[in-house]
Amino acid sequence: PAAPPGPAASAPTHCPYCALQCAMTLTSTPHGATPVTVAGRAFPTNRGGLCKKGWTSAELLAAPGRLTTPLVREDGELRPATWEEALGRIVVTLVGIRREDGPDAVGVFGGGGLTNEKAYLLGKFARLALGTSRIDYNGRFCMSSAAAAGTRAFGVDRGLPFPVSDLDDADTILLLGSNVAATMPPLLSHLAGARAVGGLVVVDPRRSQTAELTADGAGLHLQPAPGTDLVLLLGLTHLVLAEGLADLPYLEARTSGFDAVRRSVAAWWPERVQAHTGVPVALLREVARRLARGRGTYILTGRGVEQHVDGTDTATAAINLALVLGLPGRPSSGYGTLTGQGNGQGGREHGQKCDQLPGYRKIADPAHRAAVAAVWGVDPKILPGPGVPAVELLGMMGAAGGIRALLVHGANVVVSGPDAGAIRAGLAALDLLVVCDFVLSETAALADVVLPVTQWAEEEGTMTNLEGRIIRRRRAIDPPAGVRSELDVLADLARRLDAPSTWPTDPAAVFDELARASAGGIADYSGLSHAVLDAQAGDGVAAHWPYPAGSTGTPRLFGERFGHDDGLARLVAVAARTAPHGIDAGEPFAPHAPGRLTLTTGRLLEHYQSGAQTRRVPELNAAQPRARAELHPATAARLGIVDGDRIRIRSSRGAVEVDARLTDGIRMDTVFLPFHFADEQCANLLTDAAVDPISAMPEFKRTAVIVTAITDG
Ligand code: SF4
Repeated sequence: PAAPPGPAASAPTHCPYCALQCAMTLTSTPHGATPVTVAGRAFPTNRGGLCKKGWTSAELLAAPGRLTTPLVREDGELRPATWEEALGRIVVTLVGIRREDGPDAVGVFGGGGLTNEKAYLLGKFARLALGTSRIDYNGRFCMSSAAAAGTRAFGVDRGLPFPVSDLDDADTILLLGSNVAATMPPLLSHLAGARAVGGLVVVDPRRSQTAELTADGAGLHLQPAPGTDLVLLLGLTHLVLAEGLADLPYLEARTSGFDAVRRSVAAWWPERVQAHTGVPVALLREVARRLARGRGTYILTGRGVEQHVDGTDTATAAINLALVLGLPGRPSSGYGTLTGQGNGQGGREHGQKCDQLPGYRKIADPAHRAAVAAVWGVDPKILPGPGVPAVELLGMMGAAGGIRALLVHGANVVVSGPDAGAIRAGLAALDLLVVCDFVLSETAALADVVLPVTQWAEEEGTMTNLEGRIIRRRRAIDPPAGVRSELDVLADLARRLDAPSTWPTDPAAVFDELARASAGGIADYSGLSHAVLDAQAGDGVAAHWPYPAGSTGTPRLFGERFGHDDGLARLVAVAARTAPHGIDAGEPFAPHAPGRLTLTTGRLLEHYQSGAQTRRVPELNAAQPRARAELHPATAARLGIVDGDRIRIRSSRGAVEVDARLTDGIRMDTVFLPFHFADEQCANLLTDAAVDPISAMPEFKRTAVIVTAITDG
């Protein structure tokens, strides 16, 4: 007879996926058919709600193909190995490469989904155990433009400088390039107040699920051509100034740089903006007036406007508009960016970025180096200098003077990186590719050594959500036999490489060290510990950074002063580089070539990032098993394509073959492709590795393509 059910064990924790980090309770039922059940839990961000991804997240714990033993490549195939063999092979190869070509011949690629503890230890491991400057992470593909713009304008980069629940009181919200109805549906409850008074304004080339929420008087939808958001924002700022709607006392008291911005938008009169973006003049005027007259007005940006070669300037233009309206730092108003990855915020604060040390410190700053080196117990002279950002790092694979080995943690670069075909070729040129993951992602499948590691509900740690709120991730079940934590793996490798300093493996101890290393930095965690977070009423509900020792955290920034030394926010004049309708000189296809469209990419409700996790959740994969390209029916008719047809999309980088989905919710000059799929459906086979000169963000949202029906079967 079956054993009677044991007592249920419950763990209050948070969703493994996006930056909203919805609260949930995991209950293990050891004798039930499902090992863990998920329940939404009351928390200010999600109010007990979860999306499909959250509700099905426990299925990840039994994901098909879960890795439980290290794998090493032999005669071209991956085969099981012991940890001793796998780690031994890594160390011998790394030592040989370092001896021959120096420490910078080894690269490290991290992830915005790693816990704060892992992100911190990975940065320390790269600098001390490997001695390499060449570390960066996939957040470069996500938040880098908004981070650069926020730092430039405010002196601080925190996605939302206010709690998300502040949006409840808004009567006007301008949401640019973010489909929150698909990416983080529980956030919608915070937009309800603005919708109720007709104040939700969505900017998106597609009539996304979020744009549909503006129907029936709930707001407005602006559909600019992909890549013309910067022009749109310059035009809105022009209108605010031209109609006398700017908050001049605020600009005088709290900002610098206004005159230059006023001059920079002078030539963007509404008719010209309409010609570039396709957004009617009347709509532009209506939006400018609503933004100025709102009693609680927020401007929020997402990846749609940030993932461009001019993404930093576009985010800056959004900030300029907010500052001209006098929004940041005021009660019930502000500017923010909606972070994407689960720990996209914390992941960029603790040393994974090529130019940063923990606490958001600069690796090139002698005082910052000394502060962190003191915590690590090493001479600051041994810390390498700044490295190179992600696209450049990946472009160095196999190149002379480049990198010969790459360690990948929490990333699936062969799907998520731009010009994915070139990345695949680069990975193949390495002497050693090591991937830590819990499933055999497309990148892990190419590795020389795969290390099986714990996943979210099997480990303790912390994440920092889109509001800069530090929350606890808790262990609900034991990991499967054979699996090790990444903290343990990094510490083991550090010892084998004779690294200086100490290498704790207990997540609470790693956090304590992180907190000490962050003390005095912008993202100061020094007043926090796992114990402090666990003791807070409501599960760390009040732990927004900066949280220096002795403080109670900082839910709202900029109320009195901004982060620059003079306390002022900086308006920065930016110029649009786009030509009318997004067509650049030098692009590969003639503007009127048959089938020539502009590709933009984005997400589906059912999938998360590269899809390595959600494609392994049966219910999610059944709902969205493959990529479908959205085309306008008129465009499809012109190209001889009907709904469901197999089509080929090609750019100067590569080609994909996917099904067509016809919808009149997309512009006739645009094709949309979700980026969660691999192989011949991988959207990033098409995208370009050109990057923003400030943030090094690749161009994901505007690619010239040719679309054709596949008629050869
Ligand atoms: Fe919440 Fe995001 Fe998880 Fe959905 S994926 S449940 S929105 S944290």
